[in-house]
Amino acid sequence: MTNLIDTYRHKGLRKRLIDELREMGVKDEKVLGAMLKIPRHYFLSSAFLEFAYENKAFSIAAGQTISQPMTVARQTELLELKAGEKVLEIGTGSGYQTCVLCELGARVYTIERQKELYDTAGPLIQALGYRPQRFFGDGYKGKSPFAPFDKILVTCGAPFVPEDLLAQLKIGGKMIIPVGEGNTQKMIELVRVQDKDILTREHGDFAFVPMLNDKAR
Ligand code: SAH
Repeated sequence: MTNLIDTYRHKGLRKRLIDELREMGVKDEKVLGAMLKIPRHYFLSSAFLEFAYENKAFSIAAGQTISQPMTVARQTELLELKAGEKVLEIGTGSGYQTCVLCELGARVYTIERQKELYDTAGPLIQALGYRPQRFFGDGYKGKSPFAPFDKILVTCGAPFVPEDLLAQLKIGGKMIIPVGEGNTQKMIELVRVQDKDILTREHGDFAFVPMLNDKAR
């Protein structure tokens, strides 16, 4: 874990980033407030402190990335979280998005398939005082023992909407999932209006690392 030191300089850079996100059209002040509170530089290795507050994705371990701040803001905003809601996140990665969800008062369940990331995210999330339930495994299957979920957030690019995830969404619940193979994905919002009645909306193009299956490395 990097040194958990949040200087005035970090705070200043973070405030500037949040102002930038607001100017770019993020409207949910609760989401911006959570991102203003959580030191994103803790989630990057210390060599990259200076980059933590640029609106860019960044490499973490195991060939993965911490999502771009604008992407985190948009996905979280689209979720329309209410405190106490049960949220399933696919792709814990650095744990940054997990902490944003926790800070907003969600009861968070998060799955990561890279052991190295699963192992390093845990102590950091804990050190920040958040208590999500974390799982090492394959997100395609979701977490049926804890279903149904009010919200499901996928933070890797899925080739399709996994049936198991959709089945674990509450009636009235919402899933935000980037769908598409290749370099960009469409941000898809799915609302389960009734059992078999799913409302779908599209929210533009984003770039994610791929959602991998059990066999892939
Ligand atoms: N939310 C993360 C984003 C990390 S990038 C953050 O804030 O840092 C996406 C993550 O999804 C990667 O860590 C990758 O290992 C993970 N991932 C990819 N396929 C997965 C799967 N099938 N199940 C669970 N996690 C997966």
